[in-house]
Formats: sequence, C-alpha cells, structure tokens
Amino acid sequence: MKMDKNYEVINLKDNTAADYQIKAVFLGNAGVGKTSIIEYEVKDKFIENIHSTSIFQYFSKNYQICEKIIHLQIWDMGGDNTYEKVMANFYNAALCFFFVFSFDDKNSFYDLDKWVDNIKIEYQTELPLLILIGNKKDLISSEKITKEEIEDFMEKNNFDLYYETSAKSGESIHDLFEDIIKKLYIKFIEPNISDSYSTKSSQSTKNSLLNPCGIDNDKCKVCDCFIF
Ligand code: GDP
Ligand code: MG
Repeated sequence: MKMDKNYEVINLKDNTAADYQIKAVFLGNAGVGKTSIIEYEVKDKFIENIHSTSIFQYFSKNYQICEKIIHLQIWDMGGDNTYEKVMANFYNAALCFFFVFSFDDKNSFYDLDKWVDNIKIEYQTELPLLILIGNKKDLISSEKITKEEIEDFMEKNNFDLYYETSAKSGESIHDLFEDIIKKLYIKFIEPNISDSYSTKSSQSTKNSLLNPCGIDNDKCKVCDCFIF
C-alpha cells in the first residue's frame, strides 16, 4: 500500500488487519468535550445533541504509518469520579493519556490535577505520552486560562504536548490525532527512528515529527512513500 505524497499517516477502515494496537484514554470533567473530540476524529462530524458519557465509551480507528497499520483503541471515560476505582481498571497498559479542559470553564482546567493524580499510580514501567487539550476554542472567554498557567501545569506534571481544539468547528482535531500517531510510532514502535533524528543536528523538532522515517528529500526506504 503506497502513501500519498506528504501524508505519512492514512486513516483506514477499522476492519483492516492491524500490525499494532495502541490504547489511549481520555480524561477530564464532564462536559469539556471529550466525546465530541473523539466523535469528530472517528466520524468526521460534530454531533450537536451528544449523550453524556456515564462510565465510559469505546471507540477505535485504524491509521497507516509507513507500512504499518496501527489500531488505536480510544477509551473515553465519563467525568464522574464516583466510578474512580472502576475507571482505574481501564488505564492499564495505556500508552497515551489525553487530559481535556474547556476554555469556557476554568474549573475544568484546575480539576485536571485530580485527574492526573488518579492515573499516576497506574503508570507501568513505561511512561505514557501525556497530552493536554484545551477544547471549545470557539468559546474562548475573557476568563481564558493563561499561557503561564498551562506551561506550569505541563512542567509540573511532565506533560509532553498541548493542543487547542474545537470539536464544533473541527479545528486541529484531525491534525492532533495524526501528530499523536506519529509520536506514538516513534516513541513505542520504532524508537530507532528517533535515535536517527537526534544525530541530525540541523533538523528542527517540527520537521522530524512531520517526517517519521527521518529521510529528507528522498524516498522513504521503509515503505517507498515520498517524503518532502
Ligand atoms: P464530555 O462530557 O467531555 O464527553 O463532553 P461532550 O462531548 O459530551 O460535550 C459536552 C457539550 O459541549 C455538548 O453539548 C457538546 O455539543 C459541547 N461541545 C463539545 N465540544 C465543543 C466545542 O469545541 N465547542 C462548543 N461550542 N461546544 C462543544
Ligand atoms: Mg463524554
């Protein structure tokens, strides 16, 4: 299967046999838009009257990167802490945690500390990718969470990445997942690729992430896709 020029990650039908399975978990207060973000990624649309999630919902999507097919399992957890103990069972072996707050609700950002503490005890030997998402960007209010607050939170909790999204307009949703798949591929599936990046002194971080095979202006030797 060949890849289109400049597109290293391809979305596939869910029934394509996968080479790897990766588990991701979405956490955060009820109402911040977790389910809406995932629905937009998986179904490519914003669902206006979405049902609120009780304990959890399960989604999945297949992606292709190089010749490998990655099956992303997405566990979308309800925002009610009453089920904290039950929910903890779902965190096992997750390689990626998404923590979501909403720009129209400052408390949803401050409450993330509690969500982070919940999962810290569940970490296995391998540290998962920790991602912060500020959703409902279309509703940014004067009460906006400041850049400094976001940076402090990320530093304090060893977060890897931060994205601002709107599940309503779809802003940044597909790009976010594409980016995450590349990061997961590099971190957990082909770590040697990231080694080759670090020896490339002139290559910016951004470029290396856009180009997971690490080959500039050439054909990818892994899957024969053309990389810009
Ligand atoms: P969850 O409880 O975190 O899963 O949140 P939901 O996905 O159920 O969304 C809660 C409410 O926020 C619903 O009414 C959604 O339509 C709405 N919503 C979700 N994302 C956005 C967004 O980006 N912008 C706006 N304006 N509304 C959103
Ligand atoms: Mg939900």
